[in-house]
Amino acid sequence: MTPVPATEANIAKAAALLRAGHLVAFPTETVYGLGANARDGAAVARIFEAKGRPRFNPLIVHVHDLGQAEGIALVGEKALHLARAFWPGPLTLVLKRRESSGLSDLVSAGLDTVAVRMPDHPIARALLKAAGFPLAAPSANRSGHVSATIARHVADDLGNRVAMVLDGGPAAHGIESTVLDATGETIVMLRPGAVPAETIEAVLGERIERALEGGVKPLSPGQLESHYAPRASVRLDANRVEAGEALLAFGPDVPPARGPVINLSPSGDLVEAAAGLFAALRALDKSGATSIAVMPIPNHGLGEAINDRLRRAAAPRG
Ligand code: AMP
Ligand code: MG
Repeated sequence: MTPVPATEANIAKAAALLRAGHLVAFPTETVYGLGANARDGAAVARIFEAKGRPRFNPLIVHVHDLGQAEGIALVGEKALHLARAFWPGPLTLVLKRRESSGLSDLVSAGLDTVAVRMPDHPIARALLKAAGFPLAAPSANRSGHVSATIARHVADDLGNRVAMVLDGGPAAHGIESTVLDATGETIVMLRPGAVPAETIEAVLGERIERALEGGVKPLSPGQLESHYAPRASVRLDANRVEAGEALLAFGPDVPPARGPVINLSPSGDLVEAAAGLFAALRALDKSGATSIAVMPIPNHGLGEAINDRLRRAAAPRG
């Protein structure tokens, strides 16, 4: 995969690829991002596949303008103040998701919040404008590798797992965005980054909490994954369904069941399964079944992240 110059024609091509569900790497002012249409569950699943991430964590959704942010999330008073001061720029705001956002569940890893940022890089902005939809984009590197700040490194790292790499020269900060939880009364810094806490405090005229300091109980990345636990108990590696159980199926050979059944992918496609995982868990949980039987899911590719999530759902509750 050779990086291509970010000409107007190539940006239009990139937008078309994204619209068709492919991944495109693009420069931002922090690091290179690996982008997918945030409303396309399978495309978002492919981000995790391409990165080789062994678990699902929520991704940052990149928007072109404030109107687009308000279309997917509830931008409260303080958040609006911060957005006006720092957008476009390397500040990410975690906000309440709108019911009508149309975003894939996977983008929020099943949470009812979404992390939003408006990047300040002409190529990222041009791409967002040409696409017309928000882009989910974590750093464009394989899991465990360092974030890439030049197009060549993205291409070397991701190879043909990405449909196009737009070359925009070196990323300016090389430091990731500052992530703030702006869902509550007090703003909490979840991740320090390119915008210093003091600068944020000066704009707000008040102190912000630091997630790492302890005290408050913020959504730190480590705690996030266990956030959505179904009410029903979850039984893994099930090859038959007991009375009263709902079934989360996978693949063509589904055992007989009298209760509700959702098949994550009748054809056994792990991308499709990942895209529908959170919605399926929620729906089966709502069905009223006291237990959800889950068929075995192969542990390769995206299966590893799917199984990680299911193990957490099945773990004993405290
Ligand atoms: P990156 O993988 O570099 O894009 O980083 C994304 C960061 O934003 C991680 O630290 C995530 O844990 C955090 N993040 C994204 N979405 C949310 C969310 N809904 N709630 C809390 N943190 C989030
Ligand atoms: Mg990263």
